[in-house]
Amino acid sequence: MTARVVVVGSSNTDMVVPVPHIPGVGETVLGGDLIIAPGGKGANQAVAAARLGAEVVFIGAVGSDDFGQKAIKGLNADGIDTSYVKIVDGTPSGVALIMVDPSGNNSIAVSPGANSRLFPEDIELSSKVLQNARILLTQLEVPLDTVATALEFGKKMDCVTMLNPAPAPATGLPSDIISHVDVITPNEVEARALVGRDMPSEDLAKALLDLGVKIVILTLGERGALVAQQDKLVAVEPFAVSPVDTTAAGDAFSGALAVAIAEGLELIDAVRFANAAAALSVTKMGAQPSMPTRAELETFLS
Ligand code: ADP
Repeated sequence: MTARVVVVGSSNTDMVVPVPHIPGVGETVLGGDLIIAPGGKGANQAVAAARLGAEVVFIGAVGSDDFGQKAIKGLNADGIDTSYVKIVDGTPSGVALIMVDPSGNNSIAVSPGANSRLFPEDIELSSKVLQNARILLTQLEVPLDTVATALEFGKKMDCVTMLNPAPAPATGLPSDIISHVDVITPNEVEARALVGRDMPSEDLAKALLDLGVKIVILTLGERGALVAQQDKLVAVEPFAVSPVDTTAAGDAFSGALAVAIAEGLELIDAVRFANAAAALSVTKMGAQPSMPTRAELETFLS
């Protein structure tokens, strides 16, 4: 049976200008050619899951502008159902303005635009798609009360609920989010922000469990991932690759993990699958262009 994954989240257009150095206040620098690419954590994770063979429904919001139309077209090209994407009149689509210097340092301004107009009632209106879904996957680039509603409906409809808590709010996670999350997938920076202090990764994972999440999967970049459940901690080895661009590695990981769990893999095998998909994604430039297909992943794993 094809795994059905519903993603509730953001869709952005990334506008990237390569610059010799990041300009200071009041400074203008001449950069290289503009690169326009689809992005947003929600859309990235939806694409990651779809390329790996899941049937994906994306719930999000775009403006009634060209960026929004192109974002929808891009998702459709990956076979993603966008019939629940809200088009918000009079509001621009989400955009990220990104400057990258030759060392890979960046400076980013995000205008959430329509993403910030995805409301709890939009989730209620589209909640029937969750009836046949195995997984509800969301992030924190749409309003927190919308995320909370999505997770609540996900639980009501018997989905496994997954939260990639990015970007992590400085105020921590509200209890109505935590109480409806089955699996959380922070990186170490996000985990520190959610716990409110720095500690070794094992302790961070345990501290997140103590908040009330059932399963914590802490991603550790080139060191793989750590799975924490009740009193069990398991390190899942990374796949060694030569990284070219680590943008959206976490999105590849969460999208792939959703597919693997939806297909019924045991948790540790699912994390291994996600580590492999994310490793492949760092061998290519860009966010969505770097998401591997199922065939690429199977060749890599064989
Ligand atoms: P984020 O992209 O959200 O900062 P991480 O850096 O933790 O998240 O990366 C997410 C996952 O991507 C890791 O758990 C790992 O599976 C994979 N990954 C990231 N960087 C590398 C790397 N250099 N080599 C192999 N796998 C990587």
